[in-house]
Amino acid sequence: MKQIICIAGSPYCSSTILSFILDGLPHASSWGEVFSVQTTTEGGFVKNRGFACGVCGTMDCPVFNEEFINDKRDVYLKCAEKIGESDTLIVSDKLFKLYKKTLQNVTVPVRVLLLHKKAIAGIKSLMAHDDLELEEAIQWYQNYYKESIKFYNLYGGYVLNIEKFISDPEEELKMLCESLDLDCDVNALNYWEHEHHQIGGNNGAYISVLGNKGVDKFGTTSEKMFNFFGFNEEYYNKAFHKLKKDETWKQFFSDEQKELIMNDERVIRIVERLEKLKGEN
Ligand SMILES: [Zn+2]
Repeated sequence: MKQIICIAGSPYCSSTILSFILDGLPHASSWGEVFSVQTTTEGGFVKNRGFACGVCGTMDCPVFNEEFINDKRDVYLKCAEKIGESDTLIVSDKLFKLYKKTLQNVTVPVRVLLLHKKAIAGIKSLMAHDDLELEEAIQWYQNYYKESIKFYNLYGGYVLNIEKFISDPEEELKMLCESLDLDCDVNALNYWEHEHHQIGGNNGAYISVLGNKGVDKFGTTSEKMFNFFGFNEEYYNKAFHKLKKDETWKQFFSDEQKELIMNDERVIRIVERLEKLKGEN
């Protein structure tokens, strides 16, 4: 089925890894945060570094090549044109405000994959990556999900809890595929074994895909990245590909903070709404 699936949710909700997994499904292409082609080319970033695809690391990429980058039309429109008769395109820009204007011009059906991890883990990620205070992070979390739920209600789709997905990936992938009319192949879960072309997203997932054989999305070799993050090959081969739940919040927050987050009305309301939508999947 020809369609675009937009991943919605907050930043750091595991969309990069999920994008790589979905990219391995038959008749599906998952290109990551394609909107950044638009923003980065306007800002000159892609041109300056000489490539867009975080996996190829050159303009020789079959997807994000010079022709694609230099085509001034709307990015989703360009993407929609590139999908064949039976193909699904998956993009992970996450925020409706990025998708909004341009989706009006896309003629193929649009569906939303509403992705979330445990609220307290999401709030922790926002604090750690975006340098926010707890109160700000809760507010941001609420805003991201209010917007994402609105987006989901507009187009419909599927709600996915990443912890649930990780606890039974094969079964969860099958259910997701059935619900979104995707052909399922559980080999897609071995995402590091497949060819990918993606832009934007989380470094850890890129390292996992690149292994020790390529450049990362910033143009440094993955070997340098390994050294930078202190990874070694043994660690990488044994553990890095493995899908694992983000439980870093357990050490990050004090008991008092945990209590505060769990009892915060804004958090409770978002969790309830996500659960309700999941129940209607
Ligand atoms: Zn590429």
